[in-house]
Amino acid sequence: MKAYTTHFQTTATPQAEPIPGTSQVPNSAGGFAWPVDDWTRLQRFLVLGTEGGSYYASEKTLTVENAQAVVRCLQVDWKRTVDTIVAISEAGRAPKNDPAIFALAMVAGMAAPEGRTYALSAMPKVCRIGTHLFHFAQAVQGFRGWGRGLRRAVAAWYQQEVERLAYQMIKYAQRDGWSHRDLLCLSHPVPPSTAHAALYDWIVRGKTEKSLDGLRFVEGVERLKQAADPTAASILVREYRLPREAIESVNTAWLNDRALWAALLEEMPLEAMTRNLGVMTARGLIAPMSDASAYVVSRFSDRAGIHKARLHPIKLLAALLTYQGGSSKGGLTWTPVQQVVDALDAAFYLAFENVEPTGKRLMLALDVSGSMSTGIVAGVAGLTPRVAAAAMALVTAARESNHVIVAFQSKSGQPQSWRTHHRDDGIVPLHISPRQRLDDVVEATNNLPFGGTDCALPMLYAIEQKLLIDGFIILTDSETWAGAIHPAQALIQYRRQTGLPAKLVVVGMVSNGFSIADPNDAGMMDVVGFDTTTPALIADFVGEGIRRQAEAPLTKTAL
Ligand code: CA
Repeated sequence: MKAYTTHFQTTATPQAEPIPGTSQVPNSAGGFAWPVDDWTRLQRFLVLGTEGGSYYASEKTLTVENAQAVVRCLQVDWKRTVDTIVAISEAGRAPKNDPAIFALAMVAGMAAPEGRTYALSAMPKVCRIGTHLFHFAQAVQGFRGWGRGLRRAVAAWYQQEVERLAYQMIKYAQRDGWSHRDLLCLSHPVPPSTAHAALYDWIVRGKTEKSLDGLRFVEGVERLKQAADPTAASILVREYRLPREAIESVNTAWLNDRALWAALLEEMPLEAMTRNLGVMTARGLIAPMSDASAYVVSRFSDRAGIHKARLHPIKLLAALLTYQGGSSKGGLTWTPVQQVVDALDAAFYLAFENVEPTGKRLMLALDVSGSMSTGIVAGVAGLTPRVAAAAMALVTAARESNHVIVAFQSKSGQPQSWRTHHRDDGIVPLHISPRQRLDDVVEATNNLPFGGTDCALPMLYAIEQKLLIDGFIILTDSETWAGAIHPAQALIQYRRQTGLPAKLVVVGMVSNGFSIADPNDAGMMDVVGFDTTTPALIADFVGEGIRRQAEAPLTKTAL
């Protein structure tokens, strides 16, 4: 019988072949994996985007593939598609809103008539700020014309509460070749109040003779135009709570003034703060032991404030990397203040949904193969999928004391018997921890060598090292190819040998269409890297339904 099973069996199949009897398909790396369904793909796209493409696909190809998945979703169920887009966008679960705007524009142009109407009625929930509206106006033209339904939806946006609208118009004046004047002229909103009418007039003509009653921001900008110097401007900034953009529209040179920045900082939204830390430090406002430093630190320590501002952890990570670097693309330089860097580091963890530790024994396994070093997550310079995976793993590691973090890659790339496979392959215990600052972790991860991909290695390593693991959390692009056994089969081997019902969570770090998780195994699950709810999903999944192995240590124990 041995001869037959050499050629056909289901317990150990090389990754270059599909597991017999399953729905596996070729991935992009010459291996086989499961295709993810279109709803998972939609979620990956909304959270991860396609910027910089991937190792295997250009940004264009990856975008087209994801767009095709969106088309299939909206054809099957436009309501679910729109609801998914709104849920992820409104809760701030994604680092960037651009994929949500793009997908919503697709539904608004390509769905059945009721679906298009539903998408347009959801537009203000996804397009919350002026920039979002301009992005939408630009994107939707790719899928439809400026018919009545679209014009009415844009008009409705301009009928929102007038002070909020005025702030949006001042803070986000134009983008993507669109201005508020253009959109007002195109959509012709009926002003719901005399204040709205005055605001439209002010935007379209650049001035108005109508009363500015109820338009404090407009009044403030008009008075700013008459201000003599930055000191006078500072007084107006405080009196009218004007944003940086209002100053820029009047006199950019005033932004060299430290006292003016002190005034701006008082009402500065958190996200604007992440972008202005460098300049405020360069101007001497944020300095060691200064009041401004203490204030900034307090704002970044406020979990509720971070959530209310929908400040995504990736934005905090990007801010940390930029601020710690001490220079901007524009040539500005500063000396970073230590307390601010530490506060950004702590804020990264606060920005994820809060979850209770499960107490389970977890292996956090990072795919550090070559393909994970291409692409940029959410457009953040230097944030490759493998660096992002390291940061993401630390979020779980910060809550779960019972964990081991490893990095894996295949050195040989030659499929051997799975029992010996790991010996010349690369499992590297990774010495990173949430106690380290993220910029150090990024550096440590960046400096690892590259290799081939074998996503079965974490389970094979646990078998060999006799580690007791309740959950394997593998952060990968699922482009596995080098192993003599599929990851799902290796997990089953692990369960057999240990008697533990170990689970596998695949954290997808690239918006491609593959997963190493068997969709028919209730103990395996796919989640999306850098969705802010992912750590909670992992905890729910791993924490549930496993017989607690009381107090057993993580390290070597007889199997
Ligand atoms: Ca790879």
